[in-house]
Amino acid sequence: MNIIMKELTVNSADNKTILNNFNLNIKSGEIHVIMGPNGTGKSTLSKTILGSSEYKVKKGDILVNNTSIINMPTDERARLGIFLANQSPISIEGVSNSEFLRTALTNITGQKIGIYQFMKEMNSCIKDLEMNQSMMHRAINQDFSGGERKKNEILQMKILKPKFIILDELDSGLDVDSLKIVCKNINKYKKEHQETSILMITHYPRILEYINPDYVHVMINGHIVKSGKKDLAFEIEKKGYEVINTMEEASSYE
Ligand code: ADP
Ligand code: MG
Repeated sequence: MNIIMKELTVNSADNKTILNNFNLNIKSGEIHVIMGPNGTGKSTLSKTILGSSEYKVKKGDILVNNTSIINMPTDERARLGIFLANQSPISIEGVSNSEFLRTALTNITGQKIGIYQFMKEMNSCIKDLEMNQSMMHRAINQDFSGGERKKNEILQMKILKPKFIILDELDSGLDVDSLKIVCKNINKYKKEHQETSILMITHYPRILEYINPDYVHVMINGHIVKSGKKDLAFEIEKKGYEVINTMEEASSYE
């Protein structure tokens, strides 16, 4: 899936500008990484792509395969194949994981899936992720640990089969072994669905040992200030964002 974000300016409900002239072009099959200090608008970007009502798009556009999605409700965006693995997945009381996923899958594909076939598929995905089988019938994320919640997001990904995947700080909350398992599943999915594009938000280059990005971007104050390859992530880990901050100030006086 092709995604173009063009001069995107987004305010919060209380009219604070969070994304400020944000530009990014993700081509079909590419993996892009965004790094950036806390509070720079990374999660706002991911929620804006899904059409969260928390935010107001003031300017610019988001094009998916050359069609604007800016006025589409969230469910329509999901039907196009856009998927967000949340930074902090919420729990939902009274709805089981399997009920939720089967309903979501039916809504996205427009086809009713037989319960036996669905359970078989879900079981095998749970095994792939080395999750506990009881997760299937438990309420969504209820009493799940931080790491289990993150795995549950990837379980949703595997079942819903998106074409554009946003991973918002997937690595925070996952221990080393779980991170490896989750990344193995993402890589396998990517291999089987080559046209799928990924936007990965992270603080730690460690995840890039398992998932190989095409581009790494640094986001500061609501837009991208520097783009590069994998090395950029390691450079930032060594030197911090300070260096890039100075560069941004310098370039604004050009
Ligand atoms: P990041 O994910 O890069 O750490 P966020 O996108 O979560 O940053 O937040 C960017 C800034 O916008 C922060 O200062 C945050 O407090 C503010 N912000 C985010 N969402 C809202 C909201 N719904 N209402 C008001 N302010 C918000
Ligand atoms: Mg965030």
